[in-house]
Amino acid sequence: MTDTSKTLAQLEQNNAFVRRHIGPGETEISSMLQTINAESLDDLTQQTVPAGILLDKPIETGEGASEVDALSALKAVAAKNKINRSFIGMGYYDTHVPNVILRNVLENPGWYTAYTPYQPEIAQGRLEAILNFQQVTIDLTGLELASASLLDEGTAAAEAMALAKRVSKNKKANLFFIADDVHPQTRDVVETRAEMFGFGIVSGPTEQASDHDVFGALLQYPSTTGEVKDISDTIAAVQANKGIVAVAADLMSLVMLKSPGELGADVALGSAQRFGVPMGYGGPHAAFFATRDSYKRSLPGRIIGISKDTRGRPALRMALQTREQHIRREKANSNICTAQVLLANMASFYAVYHGPEGLKTIASRIHRLADILASGLKQKGLGLKHATWFDTLTVLTDNKADVLQRAYAKGINLRADIDGAVGIALDETSTRNDVQALFDVLLGEGHNLQVANLDDDVTTQGSQSIPASLRRTSDILQHEVFNQYHSETEMLRYIKSLENKDLALNHSMISLGSCTMKLNATAEMIPVTWPEFGQLHPFAPLDQAAGYHEMISELAQWLISITGYDAMSMQPNSGAQGEYAGLLAIQRYHESRGEGHRNVCLIPSSAHGTNPASAQMVSLKVVVVNCDKNGNVDLKDLRAKAEEVGDNLSCAMITYPSTHGVYEETVREMCEIVHQYGGQVYMDGANMNAQVGITAPGFIGSDVSHLNLHKTFCIPHGGGGPGMGPIGVKSHLAPFLPNHSVVDIDGAGKDCGAVSAAPWGSASILPISYMYIKMMGAEGLRKATQVAILNANYVAKQLEGHFDVLYKGRNGRVAHECIIDLRPLKEVSGVSEIDIAKRLNDYGFHAPTMSFPVAGTLMIEPTESEAKYELDRFIEAMISIRKEIAKVESGEWAADNNPLHFAPHTLADICDSNWDRSYDRNLAAYPVAAVARNKFWPSVNRIDDVYGDRNLMCSCAPIEAYREE
Ligand SMILES: *Cc1c(COP(=O)(O)O)cnc(C)c1O
Repeated sequence: MTDTSKTLAQLEQNNAFVRRHIGPGETEISSMLQTINAESLDDLTQQTVPAGILLDKPIETGEGASEVDALSALKAVAAKNKINRSFIGMGYYDTHVPNVILRNVLENPGWYTAYTPYQPEIAQGRLEAILNFQQVTIDLTGLELASASLLDEGTAAAEAMALAKRVSKNKKANLFFIADDVHPQTRDVVETRAEMFGFGIVSGPTEQASDHDVFGALLQYPSTTGEVKDISDTIAAVQANKGIVAVAADLMSLVMLKSPGELGADVALGSAQRFGVPMGYGGPHAAFFATRDSYKRSLPGRIIGISKDTRGRPALRMALQTREQHIRREKANSNICTAQVLLANMASFYAVYHGPEGLKTIASRIHRLADILASGLKQKGLGLKHATWFDTLTVLTDNKADVLQRAYAKGINLRADIDGAVGIALDETSTRNDVQALFDVLLGEGHNLQVANLDDDVTTQGSQSIPASLRRTSDILQHEVFNQYHSETEMLRYIKSLENKDLALNHSMISLGSCTMKLNATAEMIPVTWPEFGQLHPFAPLDQAAGYHEMISELAQWLISITGYDAMSMQPNSGAQGEYAGLLAIQRYHESRGEGHRNVCLIPSSAHGTNPASAQMVSLKVVVVNCDKNGNVDLKDLRAKAEEVGDNLSCAMITYPSTHGVYEETVREMCEIVHQYGGQVYMDGANMNAQVGITAPGFIGSDVSHLNLHKTFCIPHGGGGPGMGPIGVKSHLAPFLPNHSVVDIDGAGKDCGAVSAAPWGSASILPISYMYIKMMGAEGLRKATQVAILNANYVAKQLEGHFDVLYKGRNGRVAHECIIDLRPLKEVSGVSEIDIAKRLNDYGFHAPTMSFPVAGTLMIEPTESEAKYELDRFIEAMISIRKEIAKVESGEWAADNNPLHFAPHTLADICDSNWDRSYDRNLAAYPVAAVARNKFWPSVNRIDDVYGDRNLMCSCAPIEAYREE
């Protein structure tokens, strides 16, 4: 049937991306508006959002483009990147992403749309993959305990310094040593962090680490210029003076080298990028972090541990979860929340696929090529800076400019920042032809060197480039998981078997308040794996990244328009890192005006835990501001505390709409009060999904915000990362945005250090947000916000009478999320929020955010991407659960024998021949008809948290455990 009444423009409009991104169609929107008693989306906006903060003009992000047009436009931009062969090294290496991992993990929504595994019964797959990552870390570093990933090598080193300060027995020391052969960007990130903590930094050759009275030291192994030297004496000497030694190490070299643990290190850290994760112009990649078991309470980031479920079967979970970093607020070890789970999983799968022998082959081949290269260069009289190496040579040359010129002419990038030398780092993708080309570059034409002949020489002479005392003798990766899946068929099935255990957005709605789990459209994801974005080294000359910079600056411009700020920094690679960068800018601003004494940060009691945790990182004192009974920041208390603090007020951190899910009427006044006392306003941007196109932080009166591009702007959650947390600032803060010591960032602060290892953070996922904004256009973005508000109000309305919605704003409306209060139900029935969360799993849903920001509640954020059908299914589930609670309340079901108590139900339960429950199996597994159409089976029963924390086990089960099975 053709629609002849519409113009071409109307027909095209009807097929726009907006229609795909926004769940409900026009008919559904009308019916939902009717249910909640609003005339139109605009009417709902007027009813919900305070008039004083409604934008007076539309945002400037252009018209929406179709998927086809946006992809081809971005492809043309990407084509402006030049992919050179990169031998720069410095922690970033080209790698072959095994195709089975590329397609089935990185490009697979089953993996990339999952949430952080707070609900472990429906997350055993990724928990196992992360546990494998911890085991890889433990084996290669030779330490006892590893974390589930950190953001990058630089921030991991900064976390190591913070850990050293916490655990060192040299309590009076305030100095930290950084060896002068640590990667420059790592040093940069650590120095920035040290300055804010008030630590002094000393630097010098590795051997001098113990000449100073330090609480800790950071060494690099192999060194940034490639030297492989025995650091065990230095480590012992620092430890003799009660200092803690952290060693930044390279994962691939550790396959062949004696481990940092065997050399005596207290901490080992680094990047797992070269285990099958593209360089991506800087990220995202997982950092690994390992330490001694005795420091487990001080470990930054999450740890996955083994516990057991109610059937006594081993089951995985986030260990020490109640102590999870940011939940301890200003007492946190670190502010890390979103980490790099997807990339840690990729690296762990890389190790699983290659196994110990495969990894040894890869590492040996890289090393052999380096030996051959070195041998040829020496034969022709070139000098090398070091006598030892794994894969990196620093070649002395007096005509560096010519060498670099010849390299660029051949499409080759060398490391260029070393005086009188060039650096060459080989990697898994290096070939004989590459080495041959490197001879040409370094020696000029006509040198007669042949790789094959040189290989014979190296083979007969034996390589001395790794000192005998530093060759690895200990085994790696002996667990069965690393020795079982080496054919592609087996690997494919292993990945799939894990994926099947996890509930992600490709199964059902994940209505996580504050976390905005919206559609991650395929068209947004496709450019991420284009080689034009994937294969660039973060320190490649800028002219080779012209496409990147065009994309980044256009995206920044859009975000400036959306937020009402004047400048953006794309460096922070998570929301919490954005908070840190923003607070840093505020402190530098105060210092520049001679007000460096301002050291108090006001934070409402409802704030996300990362807020106080970040404040602590810039040495701010946190003063908590109360909320009133309606969930609003208590203005009187804010004013009183600001006045009390007076001249010492640095800033206030507020979230808008508040984490209580309402647009506070007084937000402008809050900003004015803070400004009146000379403070700055930091507005947490996690709730931007309720602002885009309708209001804006800069317009409201805030000075700085981070944006969680992995919430509002469609970067998928990855099972706990990656993310991007760029910050927007008003012009007066722009001179204090983070810069970078290796690549000077246009428009950033002159003397400002880095907050991330890479200049533009996790640049390769920025195309996702770029595509989103490009395809939605200004009108589409505004409509998305309006429908997000509609969906939340629809859910709140339909749950009315069954559950209490805790906080409401003007006209009884909620913002883009709502909190339902389960405490009254618990009181009368004994059924807890946890029981309800687990019972939702039986209905095929991930639980909403539990007990944040208020204990005993669920915070529901449906987002605009969920269609009415899915909302209705969720509402049906919640109401059905409410009826189940009523049966417990009335005594029809005993408190310890009902489907809520035993939730979630597994197939093992249903198939158990000893079924002795007061309800039947059908009710357990198929409580409403809709479930049967798409049943999700939790793979384990409820997990025992207490047991897991008492018996902390954070590595793969001992080989014996497999034998028993
Ligand atoms: C998610 C969130 C953060 C932290 O962001 P990460 O990217 O996880 O570091 C901060 N504040 C609020 C309100 C959030 O929801």
